[in-house]
Amino acid sequence: MSRFWNDRVRSLSPYVPGEQPKDKRYIKLNTNENPYPPSPKTLEAIQRAANGDLRLYPDPTAQGLRQVIAERYGTSVDRVFVGNGSDEILAFAFAAFFGSRRSSDASDSPVLPLLFPDITYSFYPVYAQLWKVPCQTVPLMDDFSLRFRDYLVPCGGVVFPNPNAPTGRALDVEEVLSIVEYQEKRSTVVLVDEAYVDFGAQSARSAVSRYANLLTVHTLSKASSLAGLRVGFAIGQEELIEGLRRIRDSFNSYTLDRLALAGAEAALSDGAYYDEVNRRLVRTRDRSAEALRRLGFIVVPSLANFLFVRHPKREGAELFQILRDRGILVRYFKKERIDQYLRISVGTDEEMDTLLRVCEELV
Ligand SMILES: *Cc1c(COP(=O)(O)O)cnc(C)c1O
Repeated sequence: MSRFWNDRVRSLSPYVPGEQPKDKRYIKLNTNENPYPPSPKTLEAIQRAANGDLRLYPDPTAQGLRQVIAERYGTSVDRVFVGNGSDEILAFAFAAFFGSRRSSDASDSPVLPLLFPDITYSFYPVYAQLWKVPCQTVPLMDDFSLRFRDYLVPCGGVVFPNPNAPTGRALDVEEVLSIVEYQEKRSTVVLVDEAYVDFGAQSARSAVSRYANLLTVHTLSKASSLAGLRVGFAIGQEELIEGLRRIRDSFNSYTLDRLALAGAEAALSDGAYYDEVNRRLVRTRDRSAEALRRLGFIVVPSLANFLFVRHPKREGAELFQILRDRGILVRYFKKERIDQYLRISVGTDEEMDTLLRVCEELV
């Protein structure tokens, strides 16, 4: 604590990102980055954009990038918002849509809590704390599946990743839309964080035209191999997009720089490359899951680019440390219900083979 901090900063417990160590070269399976590089066309576009125009501010409306996204996903430019990583969009959405009464509510009615799963992306409680959004966690089932019926209750908002992180389990789009439909009647926003949707799950984004309360949030960090560029986008009807814009323009109008705009446009126009890369990744995931099961691991069924696993005979924390000592970084969460689990990002075939060899020795 510092005497210079105000009450707001004193009260925070910030998010702790997965480590990016510099001490030696690890097989890095801890932050769900794509093991394959961005496409050659993406890299060329970024290199081309590194020119004298960098003295000029970027387009604050990101018109070109939003156009590419709108075309690719069959929506209109006015229904697309872009941000400096999807984390930024999540932060804006919490600020814009959650934690207050609706204009239609009585002024003395309580603020209803935002709902999210007890085991989920650990940034949600951090944003809730930052913006003072009352929230309530909803326990996942014992097998870590999310029961959509638990979200058919009056509340101040709903947010969850689909597929969920760090479990990798996904809901069918019909289940997602049951939540959206129930909450639409109560003017409650449902935010579906689709960071991992391109690894085999069903996206809800095409339902945005039917539901004014649905915001789907996407990132180029995972399926587009661009975690280092920081680009995310959201799809929602104009009212929600305008809400996000009002927050952004009260904060920082130029959230995406010229290189990010150029790289993101090129990546989203080069779908064939990324589809191929991610098909390969999915094959590696499924094969690795099978191999881990044969070694006695419990592997949660995953539609994401990571596996959530535990071994009945080895402590999670111990496995994490041994793997780390052997040069393989995975993610371990010291948290109730999941402290025996490891989250393993899917790497290249070669990286996964090394992981499997070490696991075989250990168990
Ligand atoms: C990785 C991740 C994000 C953040 O993505 P960025 O675009 O890199 O900020 C958001 N939500 C979930 C669930 C994630 O796993």
